[in-house]
Amino acid sequence: MNKSILMAATLLLTSSAAFAADFKQADNQWFKDGQATVKMLMGVQPITEKAKNIILLIADGNGIGTNYATRLYQGQQMGKLGSEHVLPQDALPHVAIVKTYNTNAQTPDSAGTGTAFHTGVKTKAGVLGVDETLARGDCSGVDAATVTNAVEFFSGIGKEIGVISTARLTHATPASAYAHSADRNWEADSYLPEGCGQKDIAVQLIDAMKSGSVDLALGGGRRNFIAKDAKDEEGKGGKRTDGKNLIEEAKAAGIQYIWDDKGFASADWSKPVLGLFESSHMKYEADRTGEPSLAEMTAAGINALKDSENGYFLTIEAGRVDHANHAGNAARVVTDGVAFADAIAKAVAMTDPEETLIVVTADHEHAIAFNGYCGRGSNVLGLCYDIDGAGTKHSDKPLTGKDGKPYTVMGYLNGPGSIIGEDGTGSRPDVTQEEATDIDYVQQSLIPLSSESHSGEDVAVYSRGPWSHLFDSTIEQNVIFHVMMHAATAE
Ligand SMILES: [Zn+2]
Repeated sequence: MNKSILMAATLLLTSSAAFAADFKQADNQWFKDGQATVKMLMGVQPITEKAKNIILLIADGNGIGTNYATRLYQGQQMGKLGSEHVLPQDALPHVAIVKTYNTNAQTPDSAGTGTAFHTGVKTKAGVLGVDETLARGDCSGVDAATVTNAVEFFSGIGKEIGVISTARLTHATPASAYAHSADRNWEADSYLPEGCGQKDIAVQLIDAMKSGSVDLALGGGRRNFIAKDAKDEEGKGGKRTDGKNLIEEAKAAGIQYIWDDKGFASADWSKPVLGLFESSHMKYEADRTGEPSLAEMTAAGINALKDSENGYFLTIEAGRVDHANHAGNAARVVTDGVAFADAIAKAVAMTDPEETLIVVTADHEHAIAFNGYCGRGSNVLGLCYDIDGAGTKHSDKPLTGKDGKPYTVMGYLNGPGSIIGEDGTGSRPDVTQEEATDIDYVQQSLIPLSSESHSGEDVAVYSRGPWSHLFDSTIEQNVIFHVMMHAATAE
């Protein structure tokens, strides 16, 4: 920007209202809204008090593209066209773009990315709470490569800690908050290689609860806490072969155990709580019965920890946005995306921006893509309808490819919905609006993979509260931890 343009821009900002009257479009609603936005942004003041509480909300696999799909979906569910909708995270005042790669992976995984925002260092794909000097699977090197994680740091400065996820609590993202492991898959002892002295991830969670550093843990993954020959409350077997029942161990240490929505409703939140609501991951929001929603767990977590004298650190994962993306099933992506948005709205409503830093982000994006040129209001789960040149809402004409067949708004570059068979040949199915908008519909994709892949694209971090203005520009993912650490310790 040259100096005179910069000066003109500054003038426009300081006296834009006076200039605006001279514009032919002065009465245009877009123009007036633009003016109002500048005015609002000029009023945003940084909060530089120490953050008493920190809430980190992560939707796994919710990059900017996936977040866009959820925005359209929630807006359309509310009767809007969609694009104009503002998600609760979109409404937060400070945003940065985040580079998600792992030290050895252009396309990252959730262990490496979780370690970045839960410890402040980037590391290799597949490892938890260790630095990049450790090779994945090298059991003997874990101690030497161990780094301090969020649970250790925040409990060390006197904060109470909650870990919440709709995935297994031992899964990569939640585990990166409290565990150190040479492999994310070592969730129970039976997964550890022969002779490996490292503690499995479930044991590490129970150790953290017994020592009082984790006060509340809500999620899925019961199977990793009980023996192979045991049966849980829903008749499902465990994964442990060391004879331990970690749930009984937790109970003996005075930790309350709950496993369904009834126990959730009647729990005594003044005591430490371990909630394991499924044998594996919790249900997708679209299929949820008998277990709390992410927003309900978020509210319970805030209520349980809010009277803590030194504040709290709460890490909350919408774990299944990622799984639905892997399945190429956009309908469950966006319904879990809305469940995440509801949890954010809860956290925003229940906390004071002067004392609570809210950080909303994703660990990585997926190989998700959006077709064009769809008219406004084309159902994000359905067909791409042509633009109406004379109006606002789309026309009633679905756009077609050169094969004469319609296509959907959303698709994937790879995954189980591939139009190419294992023999290398194939053609696009002729999809109808009714088929495409079914909850079980798998979006068309190009490259055949049994599980759709992550991508290395950027994600966003959205934030409100003390020091949230430090989220600015394009940052490395590990910087997220440093902003939280600064906010919690600023004098
Ligand atoms: Zn994933």
